[in-house]
Amino acid sequence: MDYPGNLFVVAAPSGAGKSSLVKALMELDSQVQPSISHTTRAPRGQERHGREYYFVSEQEFDAMVLADAFVEWAFVHGRRYGTSKRAIEERIAQGADVILEIDYQGALQIKRIFANAVLVFILPPSWDELRSRLERRGEDSPEVIELRLKNAAEELSKAPEFDFVIINELFERALFDLKAIVHAQRLKYSAQRRARAETFQALNIP
Ligand code: GDP
Ligand code: ADP
Ligand code: 5GP
Repeated sequence: MDYPGNLFVVAAPSGAGKSSLVKALMELDSQVQPSISHTTRAPRGQERHGREYYFVSEQEFDAMVLADAFVEWAFVHGRRYGTSKRAIEERIAQGADVILEIDYQGALQIKRIFANAVLVFILPPSWDELRSRLERRGEDSPEVIELRLKNAAEELSKAPEFDFVIINELFERALFDLKAIVHAQRLKYSAQRRARAETFQALNIP
């Protein structure tokens, strides 16, 4: 499928910093819009329905699966998370760049459907730092943190299937890297041809 907008998929073990990086990117670049997922997990302290996620019951999630409303969905840390078709299709068709913060299972499903999707994996600088970020964030119980660290090893083993890797050690450096990936996609021949059609025409370039 050839859409004017790009689809960026960011995955990482929990605590690597993907939400912080994606949020900072969107504050700098209004052309990048989030895909808001549905989840059956409970909201954390500051999270709001329709902003970070659509928080739904197991029954509501089941109904959406039956209605074929998801592009992809997966079990992550014992809960279900899914990207609805509505969350992405209209936006990329209108030319927006859409960014998905999803787990590796979802990322690989997206790549099969949207071959041009750009898959970005965020790595923490070390295991110790990953643990201390989860602890410092202070949003999850010790049991949930242990489960997320246990699941991180499997998540990390999927990094080779991604197009790009960012090591989130210094936050500003990692943000610069993420901006560079987005920028590079916009400089691709097909994107420039579409965005600067008049210039190409005037120069007699097909
Ligand atoms: P985080 O890992 O600390 O960011 O915690 P979250 O609860 O925000 O995310 C839980 C997991 O679900 C992460 O692996 C996300 O990348 C993943 N996730 C979030 N949204 C989606 C989605 O729409 N689809 C899929 N497949 N995974 C998602
Ligand atoms: P994720 O969305 O991958 O679970 P978050 O964006 O919630 O991760 O980040 C986890 C914690 O680590 C947050 O408290 C965040 O402020 C912090 N953090 C993110 N990036 C860095 C960094 N480069 N250096 C130090 N702390 C960071
Ligand atoms: P959290 O519960 O910390 O918000 O997210 C836990 C994990 O679920 C993260 O790795 C996050 O990227 C992933 N996740 C969030 N939404 C989705 C989604 O719609 N689909 C999939 N597959 N994973 C998701």
